[in-house]
Amino acid sequence: MNIVSLNKWIPNLKDPLVIAGPCSAENEEQIINTAKELATQPAVRVFRAGIWKPRTRPNNFEGVGEVGLPWLQRVKRETGLLTAVEVANTSHVELALKYDVDILWLGARTSANPFSVQEIANSLRGVGVPVMVKNPVNADLALWIGALERINNAGINKLAAIHRGFSTYEKSRHRNPPMWNIPIELKRLFPNLPVICDPSHITGNKDLIPGICQKAMDVDMDGLMVESHLDPTVAMSDASQQITPTELGTILDNLACRTQYSTDRNFESELEQLRGQIDRIDNEIIESLQHRMSIVEKIGMAKVTSNITALQVGRMDELMKLRMAKGESIGLRPEYIKEIYNSIHGESVQVQTELMKEHKK
Ligand code: PEP
Ligand code: MN
Repeated sequence: MNIVSLNKWIPNLKDPLVIAGPCSAENEEQIINTAKELATQPAVRVFRAGIWKPRTRPNNFEGVGEVGLPWLQRVKRETGLLTAVEVANTSHVELALKYDVDILWLGARTSANPFSVQEIANSLRGVGVPVMVKNPVNADLALWIGALERINNAGINKLAAIHRGFSTYEKSRHRNPPMWNIPIELKRLFPNLPVICDPSHITGNKDLIPGICQKAMDVDMDGLMVESHLDPTVAMSDASQQITPTELGTILDNLACRTQYSTDRNFESELEQLRGQIDRIDNEIIESLQHRMSIVEKIGMAKVTSNITALQVGRMDELMKLRMAKGESIGLRPEYIKEIYNSIHGESVQVQTELMKEHKK
């Protein structure tokens, strides 16, 4: 990809680039006052605000729309910050350009749809506006790269990627787990592509934002996009993840930047990949334990029917010896295996004992 470095399109760039502003533009006063506070932070060079909001369910606040765009023109005039909005279709693009928005970004839901990305790319041909592409909601690096390429092929070389984490079905600590190996691999494949981290949508929780900001610096990301609201408690969208401009200032002041930190992207990438393998193996272990337990229960029922005790010392002894020998034969300490099987077998006996209690006549 043909990409222009960030300092060529962000005047007075500080390292890292900080993009901040509310999840949604709500009213003119909120926008101007937030921007003025944020502009006191030298690292904040771009003001973000959602004008059209992609809401998961209908009947939620869907953004103020076109009326909010002149507010952003005022931000530019009064603070000197660049402005950025999310565009999800060609009419958004047309309006954003009409009101001189400086940077457009594609949201996670849009990046996941190549038809939408291509339509937007076509509407940007010959325009030359800077574009940032959030990762698609699903953990698919090729789809993210595809979206970046479609925009780049339309002649946009002021291009950056935004890492905002990936949606998962299972509940986790993070709203969208960061899966760092994906943006790290993107950086490895496209070393000139600026990658900006969005800790707000990764965490969904303001308390976790500082840690993600630091991690982003540790893996050599080029910037941060942080949602900031004057009073997050009354925010009309994403209230739990927004921080005040003052809180943002504190986070930025405490950030250890990469000059002080040794960063080795290959090491980080390898570590993330290996941890991914560990996660998969652990899931397999847990699923195997569940499978084992379902068989233990069947044996338990058979014991109930035949009226024999849950614990048979002979069997336990034999099992332990066999498992320890197996472990030792492949290089695992027998004491380690013994400890694990004490726990596994202990739980089995416990479950069978419970079964017997339940079936006591
Ligand atoms: C946003 O930036 O407010 C937003 C909707 O983000 P995402 O596309 O990452 O969900
Ligand atoms: Mn948001």
